[in-house]
Amino acid sequence: MTERGAVVVGAGPNGLAAAVTLARAGVKVTVLERMDGLGGGARTAEVTLPGFRHDLCSAVHPMAYLSTFFTRFGLRERVDFVDPEIPYAHGVAPGRVAVAHRDLDRTAAGLGSDADAFRSLLRPFVDQPELVARLVADTPLKPPIAPLGLLRIGLSVLEQGSPLWDRRWRTEEAPALLTGAMAHPIQPMPGLGWAAAGMMLAASAHIGGWPIPVGGSQAMADAMVDDARAHGAEFVTGTEVTGLDDLGDAAVILDVSPRALADIAGDRLPDRYVRALRRYRYGGAAAKVDLALSGPVPWTDPRLREAGTVHLGGTRAQMAEAEAAIARGEHPSTPYVLVSQPSVFDPTRAPAGSHVLWAYTHVPAYSTLDPTEAILQRLEQFAPGLRDLVLHSTARSASDLAAYNPNYVGGDIAVGDVGIRQLAGRPVLSTDPWRTPGRGIYLCSSATPPGPGVHGIPGWRAALSALRHEFGIDEEPDLSPRGTARP
Ligand SMILES: Cc1cc2nc3c(=O)[nH]c(=O)nc-3n(C[C@H](O)[C@H](O)[C@H](O)COP(=O)(O)OP(=O)(O)OC[C@H]3O[C@@H](n4cnc5c(N)ncnc54)[C@H](O)[C@@H]3O)c2cc1C
Repeated sequence: MTERGAVVVGAGPNGLAAAVTLARAGVKVTVLERMDGLGGGARTAEVTLPGFRHDLCSAVHPMAYLSTFFTRFGLRERVDFVDPEIPYAHGVAPGRVAVAHRDLDRTAAGLGSDADAFRSLLRPFVDQPELVARLVADTPLKPPIAPLGLLRIGLSVLEQGSPLWDRRWRTEEAPALLTGAMAHPIQPMPGLGWAAAGMMLAASAHIGGWPIPVGGSQAMADAMVDDARAHGAEFVTGTEVTGLDDLGDAAVILDVSPRALADIAGDRLPDRYVRALRRYRYGGAAAKVDLALSGPVPWTDPRLREAGTVHLGGTRAQMAEAEAAIARGEHPSTPYVLVSQPSVFDPTRAPAGSHVLWAYTHVPAYSTLDPTEAILQRLEQFAPGLRDLVLHSTARSASDLAAYNPNYVGGDIAVGDVGIRQLAGRPVLSTDPWRTPGRGIYLCSSATPPGPGVHGIPGWRAALSALRHEFGIDEEPDLSPRGTARP
């Protein structure tokens, strides 16, 4: 054990990844969390009725499968996952559905005259799973960089991020299916940052799939908490950190937004850096509803019953219009709704015969609108009779989400706009963006590369940087289930 310790502020997936990495390296770690539970965006709880376990934020985990941190941590040995054969499907209009299978060719085969267009667009990603994993869930700029592979992927991204994005399509189904997956980042479309993030997500369905953890996202958080505890880390909940004065000489790794970093540590950071943190831009927001259902969703199209995630967004043009409205600060008339039905695949989530449904929609930042009615209306178009099955619902507006977790500034669940500039400089352009210019102060939230999602990379990278610069430890600790901590 080193004498000087480390304090991790925030027990989201990234704070937990930092805690695991530091504890495994023999550093004495204390994790301070403002909520009454651990896991941040990876918590699962009963928020409707007893026995119904809902993912409060994240639910589906393509990035966990691609993450270098989780691979080294041996996540799949510690947590069971189910891998739906249909990772995602898309409701174009009542009676018109498009489906993504794990297999790219099978997906393309269902897209009629757009089969070749869809296949050739995504082929460069599917052929290069290791490069995609690096781009999505590690540090893209770390050598060796594969220039030809990057170029192939880059051309697809450039096309779909540009005004030429509709050039290759003959039908409405294929671009709608793709856009449903690409629209997870809440951004006006098309755009380069949007296309880069969105296409990786779409392609990941045909690489690792879009897995659902048995027991909910909390199982992933618990695996990290258990491991960090087993290696000496201590966890304190119900403690909000507002300044660093009480933390002594500990190295501090903060799982917070850039705005909160400036508030908490601004007096120990250079003015220029604080100004950059304050200039950091936040994007559109989410509003969520959790439903307890007395039976499975009565989808009209049977393929939707087999999909892990369902996007109800209409055509590509309708989704583009909805996101444009959000950027103007308006609520869209035809909202884009993301739905996951984990209890279809994981019976531990609800009492026998009943189900939980996780759904959210995109709204303007700071919206106070209860999304329940808009989401139910959308669902009813593809699953008439759903309302009759609702036993209980719990809604959170964008403002509620921001109050629940201050990292979601205004309800922005990506903790910052993912336009191309801010994807590259997150929160500032740097070869080590996790290390701030303040002595012993590190940032590890999804406001650092590679950005949002449950992959643990920012936490892992921030901890490795802290180990090197604060504790003189250059060797990466063994994170595997059988690995032992440094003495
Ligand atoms: C509705 C919704 C759906 C999502 N769906 C998915 C999905 O399906 N798949 C996916 O991969 N990602 C999804 N995400 C995104 C994912 O949850 C986040 O990207 C991820 O949780 C970020 O991890 P993090 O550790 O950086 O931050 P967070 O998970 O936000 O954790 C930060 C933690 O720090 C705590 N904290 C903040 N400030 C302080 C302070 N001053 N003192 C003490 N504690 C503090 C917070 O309470 C919180 O526990 C979703 C998010 C939301 C909200």
